Amino acid sequence: MHETLMSLIQLQMIDNQLLMIQEKLGDLPAMVQGLKEEIQSKKESIKTNTAAVSDLQSKVLVSKGKIQDHKAKLEKYQEQLYLVTTNREYDALTTEIDYAKSQISEAEMTILESNEQIDKLEGSVKVDEADLADLLEQLKEAEEALADTVKSTESEKELLEDKRNEALSKVPKRFYQTYERVRKARRGLAVVPMERGACGGCHNRIIPQKRVEIQKGNKLIVCDICGRFLYWNDDNGE
Ligand SMILES: [Zn+2]
Repeated sequence: MHETLMSLIQLQMIDNQLLMIQEKLGDLPAMVQGLKEEIQSKKESIKTNTAAVSDLQSKVLVSKGKIQDHKAKLEKYQEQLYLVTTNREYDALTTEIDYAKSQISEAEMTILESNEQIDKLEGSVKVDEADLADLLEQLKEAEEALADTVKSTESEKELLEDKRNEALSKVPKRFYQTYERVRKARRGLAVVPMERGACGGCHNRIIPQKRVEIQKGNKLIVCDICGRFLYWNDDNGE
């Protein structure tokens, strides 16, 4: 095979690996950041709901106190009822009794409603706490993966860059310029195999004359449509 073509194939493989490293790193920092934000919002939600529960619990206590007070008053009024002598006194007392009764039932309603809300809030705090534990675990894993990737890719990247320079030294400048131009314009792929008589990049059919040339591999052939370098791959079984 043409030596420049071989070097271009090698260059493409190295660049694919470098792109993969870049993509691996590209994802992890965003993932770590996203998890941190989710954790922060879970913590805030737990804090808010816990504070609301404690407010409601005080409300329940206050209402219980109210009920006790009004019940004591009610008992006192009931006793006084036996002692009244005038209709006016009787009316005044029954008004007090009605008022105490309505206050008691209002307080009982407040307790009922508060307890319902407390149950709901405590339920969502429990869910949030379970989510938070999961998120913290995920963050730990993501941070470790990020640290590992940074560490492991450093040496891999250096090695690939050395290999790249070596492959590059074997490619004449004008072909390298074409390679870079096409690679940038064609989503990272500038060298592709022929696949079932078509370009492995844009899938347009290649004329028979060119197919023969590609199979021979004696010169550099580019796709008429996308401009990618084409080569014959024995593994394709064409
Ligand atoms: Zn093509």
